[in-house]
Amino acid sequence: MNTRVIPIIDLRQAPAFDLQGDLLREQPAGLLGDALGRPLHDLRISVTDRCNFRCVYCMPKDVFDKQYEFLPHSALLSFEEITRVARQFVAHGVHKIRLTGGEPLLRKNIERLVGMLAALRTPAGERVDLTLTTNGTLLRQKAQALKDAGLNRVTVSLDSLDDTVFRRMNDVDFPVARVLDGIDAAIAAGLGPVKVNMVVKKGVNDDQVLPMARHFKGSPVILRFIEYMDVGSSNGWRMDDVLPSREVVQRIHAELPIVELDPNYTGETAERWRYVDGGGEIGVISSVTQAFCQDCSRARLSTEGSVYTCLFGSQGHDLRAIVRASDDDAVLAAAIARLWRARGDRYSELRSQQSARPLHKVEMSYIGG
Ligand code: SAM
Repeated sequence: MNTRVIPIIDLRQAPAFDLQGDLLREQPAGLLGDALGRPLHDLRISVTDRCNFRCVYCMPKDVFDKQYEFLPHSALLSFEEITRVARQFVAHGVHKIRLTGGEPLLRKNIERLVGMLAALRTPAGERVDLTLTTNGTLLRQKAQALKDAGLNRVTVSLDSLDDTVFRRMNDVDFPVARVLDGIDAAIAAGLGPVKVNMVVKKGVNDDQVLPMARHFKGSPVILRFIEYMDVGSSNGWRMDDVLPSREVVQRIHAELPIVELDPNYTGETAERWRYVDGGGEIGVISSVTQAFCQDCSRARLSTEGSVYTCLFGSQGHDLRAIVRASDDDAVLAAAIARLWRARGDRYSELRSQQSARPLHKVEMSYIGG
């Protein structure tokens, strides 16, 4: 019998903004700083809390089972509502939008949303960098339509090349070959450079680091290794399960020499490395062993319209209530500005301090990666 109690439901009841405060109006000036001086640069939008995988470290089957209550359709932001919120974020300085989930390609007609977001312009009149993170299962069918709608790039999650290991990790018996086929479809559609994210869990798939590096070396794919993180409350995370990125780098360097590259921009999550022989680039994302909170410029919009200012947050800010209560974009803009200016989150830097740990962190499948 499953006796684990996961208080995810409570987290969904994010408190509404104080409506009196929300009557404040503001015209965005294209630049916002938080309480620690960090700009608002990226927006991640979760378009569904559902996924067709049950990755053991993200949506374990014993929690996300047949009884689990996913959000009803009426709770989800519509494409029009998402676009309206995103437009205000862009007016406040967001240059990059990533669609995520759950599995974003499960959201019906997602390419219509892509088209709506692709039409947004920054205050300087530029297009927004529009990307999407997917498990790749539906990419063969969707890649061309996504490209045609205006998507720039995709990131595909793939944790192993070994079919047995991969099927065990996704826990729905999905084969590696079909994800690789989805990656090929994305490259062919022009959704590159395609990035592949591999979450490394010690003792589970860390023996796949080198096979993955060998496989993608010399290809147009940028492979990135992600430290297994203590997001959410359902995956039973332990520090012992984390393979530090420096070990990943050492293992690769011992067989396939690499040198470090400069970041593309301040706040980039991945540390970049290139193969000495010209075989391309890899990245490591070390949010556990080398926290990068001081440069974090990401806001996250949940499927039902709550904004989270930290991946490890426990409390969202309910924008949906404002979106549905007022047609005035200046009210929405003021609400976004107020919560970003108040933002002081730096969970990863404080991780080791017991007192800094929120009691119930929001699930990754709810706000996206
Ligand atoms: N379904 C999509 C996918 O598979 O990419 C998007 C959502 S998924 C939550 C986004 C990313 O988060 C995936 O690359 C997944 O591997 C990663 N992820 C989930 N739980 C994680 C954890 N505990 N630590 C590190 N990465 C995690």
